[in-house]
Amino acid sequence: MQIIEKAAAKINLSLDTPFNHADGKQEWQMIMTSVDLADYVTIETLDHTMRIEVLNDTGFLPNDRRNLVYQAAKLLQKSFKIKQGVKISIEKHIPVAAGLGGGSSDAAAVLRGLNKLWDLNLSLAQLAILGLDIDADVPYCVYSQTAYVHGKGEKIELLEKLPTAWVILAKPNISVSTPSILRQIDHAKLKHINTPRLKQVINDQAYQQMYQLMGNVLEPVTCQQHNQIMQLKERMLTYGANVAQMSGTGPTVFGICEKQSRAQRVYNSMKGFCRETYLVRTLG
Ligand code: ATP
Repeated sequence: MQIIEKAAAKINLSLDTPFNHADGKQEWQMIMTSVDLADYVTIETLDHTMRIEVLNDTGFLPNDRRNLVYQAAKLLQKSFKIKQGVKISIEKHIPVAAGLGGGSSDAAAVLRGLNKLWDLNLSLAQLAILGLDIDADVPYCVYSQTAYVHGKGEKIELLEKLPTAWVILAKPNISVSTPSILRQIDHAKLKHINTPRLKQVINDQAYQQMYQLMGNVLEPVTCQQHNQIMQLKERMLTYGANVAQMSGTGPTVFGICEKQSRAQRVYNSMKGFCRETYLVRTLG
């Protein structure tokens, strides 16, 4: 039996972290939404073996237990004592280590897909709790729709869906190590975001206010090392984006435009400036 799951990229409308838990993990306060830049994950069950085979078309991502899809399959196989193996092929479109949650979304797609193929009958909420063992962004990616995410990433409150808007994604050619950025956080120095208010305006569909309240407390941390991020943001705003912000720990910068013509103008202005630029839409 085989199934194809779409694994959408996420962007952070907000990202904040008020403190660290005793185990060193961050407490998060994030509002995320998903866009129609997606990987496609084909999942096929294998009889007479418990092997987990992973294939991907990048030429550089590992196919062993370091791949988050492997970890997702292993987690379900072990938790529910499944005696079947699985073959997972990833068609990658989301840039890797970009702050767009590609690996987490692939893992979430495997959780959703194997939930169906193995008749586990788990709810999305149950899959999200399991997914936290893989990465903090997996619980959100199980849903992949506008949500407030808190706790260590496992507490998900779905918000009013966003109307279709255009999103320009620009990923500069630099690598950002998420663990290294997280190590540099000094909670006392962060300029925190009014997340309760942001949630409220999203639920009230007050989008002009949403643009003003959005923010990513890690932007200054990543920008300290990579000034290009600031330049990309400024360029998007100059060419007419309603808002421009870094996603996750970066380095991808996204801009939102309500009008297609304006989005096209921002996209055209970014293309010559940043090779990896995409024009996509919000998924809601
Ligand atoms: P994070 O902020 O969680 O690091 P990200 O969105 O910045 O995530 P990802 O594309 O998820 O970036 O990649 C993060 C790391 O996960 C990379 O170092 C990559 O090698 C590893 N990884 C494991 N499996 C995958 C996968 N299926 N797709 C992408 N990256 C993967």
